[in-house]
Amino acid sequence: MALVTYTPLGFYCAQADLYIDPLRKVSKALVTHAHSDHARPGMQHYLCHVQSVNILKLRLGQRISVQAMAYGESVWMNGVEITLFPAGHVPGSAQVRLSFRGEVWVISGDYKTVGDGLTPAFEAVRCHHFVTESTFGMPIFQWREQKTVFDDINTWWQKNAAVGKPSVLLGYSLGKAQRILKYLDRSIGTIICHGAINASNIVLQECGFDFGTWEDGSRGLADLRDLGVKMDNCLVVCPPNALRSAWISPLGNYSLANCSGWMAVSKSGDWGGIDKGFVLSDHADWPQLIEAVLGTGAENIYVTHGFSEILARYLREARGLNAVVVEQSMLERKME
Ligand SMILES: [Zn+2]
Ligand SMILES: [Zn+2]
Repeated sequence: MALVTYTPLGFYCAQADLYIDPLRKVSKALVTHAHSDHARPGMQHYLCHVQSVNILKLRLGQRISVQAMAYGESVWMNGVEITLFPAGHVPGSAQVRLSFRGEVWVISGDYKTVGDGLTPAFEAVRCHHFVTESTFGMPIFQWREQKTVFDDINTWWQKNAAVGKPSVLLGYSLGKAQRILKYLDRSIGTIICHGAINASNIVLQECGFDFGTWEDGSRGLADLRDLGVKMDNCLVVCPPNALRSAWISPLGNYSLANCSGWMAVSKSGDWGGIDKGFVLSDHADWPQLIEAVLGTGAENIYVTHGFSEILARYLREARGLNAVVVEQSMLERKME
């Protein structure tokens, strides 16, 4: 039997009795990163990268049982060597290498190969079997350099500030928000973070991530205004659900933008109230996916988590690899 198999609960190493990002409750779960479609509640015991521990506790509860691992440090379970390597996706994200009697597997989790200056950069790991994600596994997905995107974001903010209009930028609270915060031009105005993002920021700052200053919006925007924070040139970073709450109303009329890889395929009419879309993703684009797969030297590729059919077919037909689809139900996934 192969060292790693795909089960209804997710990828499983029977020799180590270890699941990777399992879908339902198991005894031992190795979690590649703390996004909700990978880190689920209810596991008896968690293993994750040391910089994921506190964010995992923030999301799943302080009382979870969790073992921290550093990148490159090996843990042994019933003869299986388990090692984490940087995945470059979001702070604390890791690829998992499992090795037993000369058979080596790497499970990528979510990743991007281009460094963003915040999260430790992706490392190619040699293996025989590689499990890759494929969130943006179509040739139309090709990202521009992040500097160009952040220049665009700062220009948009500057234009709004010049006419006294607040700016609101949507971003999920682990990874995207901090990556945005790191590159905003603070000479334009004040940056305010929604409470959910503020909580993640504090935990990640304590783990050593540096992404600059911000104002804590968790007590409400009216409160900040009363304290003298100017609203007409501010930039608010918040998750999408904040737009449906009263929290946003003290801002009055504002310009709204979204930052996501999906903005590459959305027509402006589809954005539902969003004035501006910035194409910025924490996942690999099409060239990065292929580069990552080839960089492992693996002959056996298992494609999951996205446009798996398209990527697997390309790897088979154009690259001669033994590539197959292993896909959990799309219903299990949540948008990041
Ligand atoms: Zn993720
Ligand atoms: Zn994911």
